[in-house]
Amino acid sequence: MYQILDGKKVSQRVKDELKETVASLKMKGTDPGLAVIIVGNDSASRVYVNNKKKACEYIGIRSEEYALPEETTQEELLNLVYELNNRKDIHGILCQLPLPKHINEETILNSIDPAKDVDAFHPVNVGKIMIGDFDFLPCTPAGVMDLIAESGIDLTGKECVVVGRSNIVGKPQAMLLLHKNATVTICHSKTKDLKEVCKRADVLVVAVGRAKMINADYIKEGAVVIDVGMDRDENGKLCGDVDFDSACTKASYITPVPGGVGPMTIATLMRNAVTAAIKQSAQ
Ligand code: NAP
Repeated sequence: MYQILDGKKVSQRVKDELKETVASLKMKGTDPGLAVIIVGNDSASRVYVNNKKKACEYIGIRSEEYALPEETTQEELLNLVYELNNRKDIHGILCQLPLPKHINEETILNSIDPAKDVDAFHPVNVGKIMIGDFDFLPCTPAGVMDLIAESGIDLTGKECVVVGRSNIVGKPQAMLLLHKNATVTICHSKTKDLKEVCKRADVLVVAVGRAKMINADYIKEGAVVIDVGMDRDENGKLCGDVDFDSACTKASYITPVPGGVGPMTIATLMRNAVTAAIKQSAQ
Protein backbone atom coordinates (compact mmCIF):
# COMPACT_ATOMS: atom_id res chain seq x y z
CA MET A 1 0.00 0.00 0.00
CA TYR A 2 1.44 3.35 -1.03
CA GLN A 3 1.39 6.69 0.74
CA ILE A 4 1.13 10.08 -0.93
CA LEU A 5 3.90 12.64 -0.44
CA ASP A 6 1.71 15.71 -0.25
CA GLY A 7 3.53 18.76 -1.64
CA LYS A 8 0.64 21.08 -0.85
CA LYS A 9 0.75 20.16 2.83
CA VAL A 10 4.54 20.27 3.19
CA SER A 11 4.83 23.55 1.26
CA GLN A 12 2.15 25.09 3.47
CA ARG A 13 4.23 24.17 6.51
CA VAL A 14 7.33 25.76 4.96
CA LYS A 15 5.40 28.92 4.08
CA ASP A 16 3.95 29.18 7.59
CA GLU A 17 7.45 28.94 9.07
CA LEU A 18 8.68 31.61 6.66
CA LYS A 19 5.75 33.86 7.54
CA GLU A 20 6.89 33.84 11.17
CA THR A 21 10.51 34.48 10.17
CA VAL A 22 9.47 37.42 7.98
CA ALA A 23 7.33 38.90 10.75
CA SER A 24 10.29 38.86 13.12
CA LEU A 25 12.61 40.27 10.43
CA LYS A 26 10.22 43.17 9.95
CA MET A 27 10.22 43.85 13.68
CA LYS A 28 13.99 44.19 13.42
CA GLY A 29 13.67 46.61 10.48
CA THR A 30 14.26 44.31 7.49
CA ASP A 31 11.48 44.26 4.90
CA PRO A 32 12.32 41.44 2.44
CA GLY A 33 11.84 42.51 -1.18
CA LEU A 34 11.75 40.30 -4.28
CA ALA A 35 11.83 41.62 -7.86
CA VAL A 36 10.04 39.39 -10.36
CA ILE A 37 10.82 40.02 -14.04
CA ILE A 38 8.66 38.60 -16.80
CA VAL A 39 9.25 39.38 -20.49
CA GLY A 40 6.63 38.71 -23.16
CA ASN A 41 3.26 36.99 -23.11
CA ASP A 42 3.95 33.32 -22.36
CA SER A 43 0.77 32.11 -20.62
CA ALA A 44 2.49 29.39 -18.55
CA SER A 45 5.05 31.95 -17.34
CA ARG A 46 2.23 34.26 -16.31
CA VAL A 47 0.67 31.48 -14.19
CA TYR A 48 4.04 30.72 -12.53
CA VAL A 49 4.69 34.41 -11.80
CA ASN A 50 1.20 34.86 -10.33
CA ASN A 51 1.71 31.83 -8.07
CA LYS A 52 5.05 33.20 -6.88
CA LYS A 53 3.51 36.61 -6.17
CA LYS A 54 0.67 34.95 -4.25
CA ALA A 55 3.19 33.06 -2.10
CA CYS A 56 5.09 36.32 -1.43
CA GLU A 57 1.88 38.00 -0.35
CA TYR A 58 1.03 35.14 2.03
CA ILE A 59 4.47 35.15 3.66
CA GLY A 60 4.79 38.93 3.81
CA ILE A 61 7.55 39.33 1.23
CA ARG A 62 7.22 42.56 -0.77
CA SER A 63 7.15 41.57 -4.44
CA GLU A 64 7.72 44.04 -7.26
CA GLU A 65 6.69 42.85 -10.70
CA TYR A 66 8.45 44.05 -13.85
CA ALA A 67 6.28 42.91 -16.78
CA LEU A 68 8.16 43.89 -19.92
CA PRO A 69 6.93 43.69 -23.51
CA GLU A 70 8.11 40.93 -25.89
CA GLU A 71 10.20 43.42 -27.90
CA THR A 72 12.34 44.45 -24.88
CA THR A 73 16.00 44.43 -25.94
CA GLN A 74 18.71 42.51 -24.13
CA GLU A 75 20.35 45.81 -23.22
CA GLU A 76 17.15 47.15 -21.65
CA LEU A 77 16.74 43.97 -19.63
CA LEU A 78 20.38 44.07 -18.53
CA ASN A 79 19.96 47.69 -17.42
CA LEU A 80 16.96 46.71 -15.31
CA VAL A 81 18.92 43.86 -13.69
CA TYR A 82 21.84 46.21 -12.92
CA GLU A 83 19.46 48.73 -11.39
CA LEU A 84 17.88 46.02 -9.20
CA ASN A 85 21.32 44.64 -8.26
CA ASN A 86 22.12 48.09 -6.83
CA ARG A 87 18.91 48.59 -4.86
CA LYS A 88 19.28 48.01 -1.14
CA ASP A 89 15.53 47.37 -0.68
CA ILE A 90 15.51 44.51 -3.22
CA HIS A 91 17.07 41.38 -1.75
CA GLY A 92 16.15 38.85 -4.43
CA ILE A 93 15.79 38.98 -8.21
CA LEU A 94 14.13 36.36 -10.34
CA CYS A 95 13.79 36.41 -14.08
CA GLN A 96 11.06 34.07 -15.29
CA LEU A 97 12.20 31.72 -18.06
CA PRO A 98 11.88 31.27 -20.97
CA LEU A 99 12.94 34.66 -22.31
CA PRO A 100 12.13 35.72 -25.89
CA LYS A 101 14.52 34.19 -28.45
CA HIS A 102 16.40 37.44 -29.18
CA ILE A 103 17.59 37.60 -25.55
CA ASN A 104 20.44 35.38 -24.40
CA GLU A 105 19.22 33.70 -21.19
CA GLU A 106 22.71 32.88 -19.98
CA THR A 107 23.83 36.51 -20.31
CA ILE A 108 20.85 37.69 -18.26
CA LEU A 109 21.11 35.01 -15.55
CA ASN A 110 24.85 35.66 -15.22
CA SER A 111 24.21 39.39 -14.76
CA ILE A 112 22.15 38.88 -11.58
CA ASP A 113 24.17 39.56 -8.42
CA PRO A 114 24.85 36.04 -7.00
CA ALA A 115 23.80 37.37 -3.55
CA LYS A 116 20.32 38.12 -4.99
CA ASP A 117 20.05 35.04 -7.23
CA VAL A 118 17.10 33.33 -5.52
CA ASP A 119 16.71 30.76 -8.33
CA ALA A 120 20.36 29.70 -7.75
CA PHE A 121 21.04 29.68 -11.52
CA HIS A 122 24.18 31.86 -11.45
CA PRO A 123 27.39 29.83 -12.03
CA VAL A 124 28.72 31.00 -8.64
CA ASN A 125 25.70 29.48 -6.89
CA VAL A 126 25.75 26.37 -9.09
CA GLY A 127 29.41 25.86 -8.12
CA LYS A 128 28.59 26.30 -4.44
CA ILE A 129 25.86 23.64 -4.69
CA MET A 130 28.45 21.33 -6.25
CA ILE A 131 30.84 21.67 -3.31
CA GLY A 132 28.04 21.51 -0.74
CA ASP A 133 28.60 24.96 0.75
CA PHE A 134 25.68 27.03 -0.44
CA ASP A 135 23.26 29.75 0.67
CA PHE A 136 20.63 29.31 -2.03
CA LEU A 137 18.97 25.96 -2.57
CA PRO A 138 18.22 24.87 -6.13
CA CYS A 139 14.42 25.31 -5.96
CA THR A 140 12.96 22.15 -7.48
CA PRO A 141 15.66 19.70 -6.28
CA ALA A 142 15.53 21.10 -2.74
CA GLY A 143 11.74 20.75 -2.78
CA VAL A 144 12.21 17.12 -3.80
CA MET A 145 14.60 16.61 -0.85
CA ASP A 146 11.94 17.96 1.54
CA LEU A 147 9.41 15.49 0.12
CA ILE A 148 11.86 12.58 0.40
CA ALA A 149 12.46 13.60 4.03
CA GLU A 150 8.70 13.29 4.60
CA SER A 151 8.91 9.59 3.73
CA GLY A 152 11.29 9.15 6.67
CA ILE A 153 13.83 7.29 4.52
CA ASP A 154 17.49 7.67 5.56
CA LEU A 155 19.34 8.23 2.29
CA THR A 156 22.72 7.04 3.56
CA GLY A 157 23.90 4.22 1.29
CA LYS A 158 20.59 4.10 -0.60
CA GLU A 159 20.45 3.60 -4.36
CA CYS A 160 19.00 6.78 -5.87
CA VAL A 161 18.31 7.09 -9.58
CA VAL A 162 17.64 10.47 -11.20
CA VAL A 163 16.16 10.35 -14.69
CA GLY A 164 17.06 13.61 -16.48
CA ARG A 165 20.25 15.68 -16.42
CA SER A 166 19.10 19.25 -16.93
CA ASN A 167 21.00 22.06 -15.22
CA ILE A 168 17.95 23.14 -13.24
CA VAL A 169 16.67 19.75 -12.06
CA GLY A 170 18.60 16.53 -12.81
CA LYS A 171 22.20 17.60 -12.12
CA PRO A 172 21.61 19.62 -8.91
CA GLN A 173 19.21 16.88 -7.75
CA ALA A 174 21.97 14.32 -8.03
CA MET A 175 24.31 16.60 -6.03
CA LEU A 176 21.82 17.08 -3.19
CA LEU A 177 21.27 13.31 -2.97
CA LEU A 178 25.03 12.76 -2.99
CA HIS A 179 25.46 15.26 -0.15
CA LYS A 180 23.08 13.00 1.83
CA ASN A 181 25.39 10.02 1.21
CA ALA A 182 23.20 8.25 -1.31
CA THR A 183 24.70 6.24 -4.17
CA VAL A 184 23.49 8.20 -7.17
CA THR A 185 22.97 7.25 -10.80
CA ILE A 186 21.96 9.86 -13.38
CA CYS A 187 20.09 8.69 -16.48
CA HIS A 188 19.35 10.54 -19.73
CA SER A 189 18.19 9.93 -23.27
CA LYS A 190 21.31 7.90 -24.14
CA THR A 191 21.11 5.60 -21.10
CA LYS A 192 21.01 1.92 -22.00
CA ASP A 193 18.46 -0.35 -20.26
CA LEU A 194 16.74 2.53 -18.48
CA LYS A 195 14.17 0.16 -17.03
CA GLU A 196 16.81 -2.02 -15.40
CA VAL A 197 18.68 0.97 -13.97
CA CYS A 198 15.48 2.47 -12.55
CA LYS A 199 14.54 -0.85 -10.98
CA ARG A 200 17.67 -0.65 -8.79
CA ALA A 201 16.38 2.53 -7.17
CA ASP A 202 15.31 2.80 -3.55
CA VAL A 203 14.48 6.39 -4.49
CA LEU A 204 13.56 7.24 -8.07
CA VAL A 205 13.37 10.90 -9.14
CA VAL A 206 11.98 11.48 -12.63
CA ALA A 207 12.52 14.79 -14.46
CA VAL A 208 12.19 14.03 -18.15
CA GLY A 209 9.25 15.99 -19.55
CA ARG A 210 7.46 13.00 -21.13
CA ALA A 211 3.92 12.30 -20.02
CA LYS A 212 3.50 9.07 -18.00
CA MET A 213 6.73 7.56 -19.35
CA ILE A 214 7.63 5.71 -16.14
CA ASN A 215 5.27 2.91 -15.10
CA ALA A 216 5.38 0.01 -12.62
CA ASP A 217 7.83 -1.91 -14.85
CA TYR A 218 10.53 0.65 -13.95
CA ILE A 219 9.96 0.52 -10.21
CA LYS A 220 11.32 -1.72 -7.47
CA GLU A 221 8.76 -2.93 -4.95
CA GLY A 222 8.68 -0.40 -2.08
CA ALA A 223 10.61 2.39 -3.82
CA VAL A 224 10.03 6.08 -3.09
CA VAL A 225 8.93 7.68 -6.38
CA ILE A 226 9.22 11.42 -7.00
CA ASP A 227 7.66 12.84 -10.15
CA VAL A 228 9.03 16.24 -11.19
CA GLY A 229 7.34 16.23 -14.60
CA MET A 230 4.65 18.74 -15.55
CA ASP A 231 3.20 17.45 -18.78
CA ARG A 232 -0.13 17.18 -20.59
CA ASP A 233 -1.77 13.82 -21.28
CA GLU A 234 -3.63 12.89 -24.48
CA ASN A 235 -6.69 14.82 -23.22
CA GLY A 236 -4.69 17.93 -22.40
CA LYS A 237 -4.89 17.25 -18.66
CA LEU A 238 -1.91 18.11 -16.42
CA CYS A 239 0.07 14.97 -15.53
CA GLY A 240 3.59 13.93 -14.62
CA ASP A 241 6.38 11.84 -16.14
CA VAL A 242 5.20 8.93 -13.99
CA ASP A 243 2.09 6.90 -14.78
CA PHE A 244 0.65 7.30 -11.29
CA ASP A 245 -2.02 4.55 -11.44
CA SER A 246 0.55 1.99 -12.54
CA ALA A 247 3.48 3.18 -10.38
CA CYS A 248 1.48 3.27 -7.14
CA THR A 249 1.08 -0.52 -7.28
CA LYS A 250 4.82 -0.82 -6.51
CA ALA A 251 5.81 2.43 -4.74
CA SER A 252 5.84 2.84 -0.97
CA TYR A 253 5.64 6.64 -1.28
CA ILE A 254 4.76 8.62 -4.38
CA THR A 255 4.17 12.26 -5.32
CA PRO A 256 1.02 13.27 -7.21
CA VAL A 257 0.91 15.72 -10.14
CA PRO A 258 -0.40 18.30 -9.48
CA GLY A 259 0.17 18.77 -5.75
CA GLY A 260 3.59 17.14 -5.42
CA VAL A 261 6.85 18.78 -6.43
CA GLY A 262 5.30 21.93 -7.99
CA PRO A 263 4.26 23.66 -4.73
CA MET A 264 7.60 22.71 -3.15
CA THR A 265 9.52 24.57 -5.86
CA ILE A 266 7.74 27.79 -4.94
CA ALA A 267 8.20 27.19 -1.20
CA THR A 268 11.96 26.80 -1.74
CA LEU A 269 12.07 29.97 -3.81
CA MET A 270 10.41 31.80 -0.91
CA ARG A 271 12.94 30.31 1.49
CA ASN A 272 15.74 31.61 -0.73
CA ALA A 273 14.19 35.09 -0.81
CA VAL A 274 14.08 35.16 2.98
CA THR A 275 17.66 33.84 3.19
CA ALA A 276 18.79 36.62 0.82
CA ALA A 277 17.13 39.27 3.00
CA ILE A 278 18.67 37.84 6.18
CA LYS A 279 22.16 37.69 4.64
CA GLN A 280 21.99 41.22 3.19
CA SER A 281 20.57 42.77 6.34
CA ALA A 282 23.48 41.30 8.33
CA GLN A 283 26.04 43.14 6.14
P1 NAP B 1 14.82 19.20 -19.86
O1 NAP B 1 15.79 20.30 -19.70
O2 NAP B 1 14.08 19.04 -21.14
O3 NAP B 1 15.59 17.83 -19.57
C1 NAP B 1 14.99 16.58 -19.76
C2 NAP B 1 15.97 15.49 -19.45
O4 NAP B 1 15.31 14.24 -19.66
C3 NAP B 1 17.22 15.51 -20.34
O5 NAP B 1 18.36 15.28 -19.56
C4 NAP B 1 16.97 14.35 -21.31
O6 NAP B 1 18.14 13.66 -21.70
C5 NAP B 1 16.13 13.41 -20.46
N1 NAP B 1 15.31 12.54 -21.31
C6 NAP B 1 14.49 12.91 -22.31
N2 NAP B 1 13.92 11.82 -22.87
C7 NAP B 1 14.41 10.75 -22.20
C8 NAP B 1 14.20 9.36 -22.30
N3 NAP B 1 13.38 8.83 -23.22
N4 NAP B 1 14.86 8.55 -21.45
C9 NAP B 1 15.70 9.06 -20.50
N5 NAP B 1 15.91 10.39 -20.35
C10 NAP B 1 15.29 11.21 -21.20
O7 NAP B 1 13.70 19.22 -18.73
P2 NAP B 1 13.70 19.83 -17.22
O8 NAP B 1 13.73 21.29 -17.28
O9 NAP B 1 14.68 19.10 -16.38
O10 NAP B 1 12.22 19.40 -16.79
C11 NAP B 1 11.80 18.05 -16.75
C12 NAP B 1 10.32 18.02 -16.40
O11 NAP B 1 10.15 18.58 -15.11
C13 NAP B 1 9.41 18.80 -17.32
O12 NAP B 1 8.16 18.14 -17.41
C14 NAP B 1 9.23 20.13 -16.61
O13 NAP B 1 8.03 20.77 -16.95
C15 NAP B 1 9.23 19.65 -15.19
N6 NAP B 1 9.63 20.67 -14.19
C16 NAP B 1 8.83 20.81 -13.12
C17 NAP B 1 9.17 21.70 -12.14
C18 NAP B 1 8.29 21.81 -10.94
O14 NAP B 1 8.40 22.77 -10.20
N7 NAP B 1 7.41 20.84 -10.70
C19 NAP B 1 10.34 22.47 -12.24
C20 NAP B 1 11.16 22.28 -13.34
C21 NAP B 1 10.80 21.35 -14.33
P3 NAP B 1 19.30 14.34 -22.62
O15 NAP B 1 20.06 15.23 -21.68
O16 NAP B 1 20.10 13.19 -23.09
O17 NAP B 1 18.59 15.09 -23.70
